[in-house]
Amino acid sequence: MKSKVYFIKVKDGESVSVISDKLRILLEESKVLDFIKKDNFIVIKTHFGEEGNRGFVRAEYVKVIVEEILKKETKAVISDTNTLYRGRRTNTIEHLGLAKEHGFYKEKLGIEVVIPDDTKKENTLEIEINKRFVKTAKVARLFLENDGLVIISHFKGHLMTGFGGALKNIGMGCATRQGKLAQHSDISPVVYKNKCVGCARCVEVCPAGAIRIIEKESFIDNNKCIGCASCISVCSFSAIDVAWEKGANTINEKMVEYAFAIIKNKKERLAFLNFLIKITKECDCIANDDPPVCSDIGILASWDPVAIDKAGFDLVNHTCGRNIFKELHPKRDALRQLRYAVRLGLGSLDYELMELS
Ligand code: SF4
Ligand code: SF4
Repeated sequence: MKSKVYFIKVKDGESVSVISDKLRILLEESKVLDFIKKDNFIVIKTHFGEEGNRGFVRAEYVKVIVEEILKKETKAVISDTNTLYRGRRTNTIEHLGLAKEHGFYKEKLGIEVVIPDDTKKENTLEIEINKRFVKTAKVARLFLENDGLVIISHFKGHLMTGFGGALKNIGMGCATRQGKLAQHSDISPVVYKNKCVGCARCVEVCPAGAIRIIEKESFIDNNKCIGCASCISVCSFSAIDVAWEKGANTINEKMVEYAFAIIKNKKERLAFLNFLIKITKECDCIANDDPPVCSDIGILASWDPVAIDKAGFDLVNHTCGRNIFKELHPKRDALRQLRYAVRLGLGSLDYELMELS
């Protein structure tokens, strides 16, 4: 059976208040939040954006969703986990400060912003899933101990997975730093010596002290590397990339297995919202204002994480008139994550687009 994906169009240059009104129509007509009942405890998962980034879903839109949830006389918090790479979102205190600078704070949203400190054992859980790559998933407890999850995602390209949407937000985004490390662990970057100019930007960002410059060329110590991929994204000369030939593609499968760990027992207690606004080449962990690669398209709502991501992928490519994700990240197989999610029973690639106005 086809999964329903609700869609409302957004055009370039529309104001925040116009888009907020459209979002209200989408929430009301899709009934995507109808699973939420009085006195439920709901966790909203989003991404507060790295410092300098402007692609993340704006706090004004998140506030609209929060207001709809609170109308149901429920309790809710909004959350994200700390990052593996070094930035303003690596630890809870700095992450909360940055979220506030980006407009995510209690006085504005009406609910608490919670960033679980995963250095404290009580904030983490290990879930046995016994899948092909992940036997035990290490996730933030908050995302499992609730009455329902609302996953708000910025749909965009992604350095490692081709694109990032609902599945990436839940699979990577609900994992502890240990869980993120496990997902990245077989990413072994290689340096293309003919491209490296020895600028040492990669050395500055490496959290493991794994990179040295020797005779004006970058050198990675694979024994120290933790596979965080920070050096790949920071190199302006495309001199570092994943050694794909060594099978590093498994990050897609591991990410989807982590998504499985979070949502396997949450059937009918999940809602997904994908924002196809300011669609960028890279994800919101990038510390700069990545320009859009495509005009604004709209907002999607669904109960199916696979269908909503496939609908987003198709809409972006249709708008661009070509497979833009392949063009932006030629070595990545963007649909790999979706095919594997279907195999794990997380959703369907078949969807019916229900356009609202
Ligand atoms: S950032 Fe790129 S160009 Fe600069 S030293 Fe590292 S690999 Fe070489
Ligand atoms: S060398 Fe390894 S640990 Fe260092 S930034 Fe690159 S991927 Fe991360």
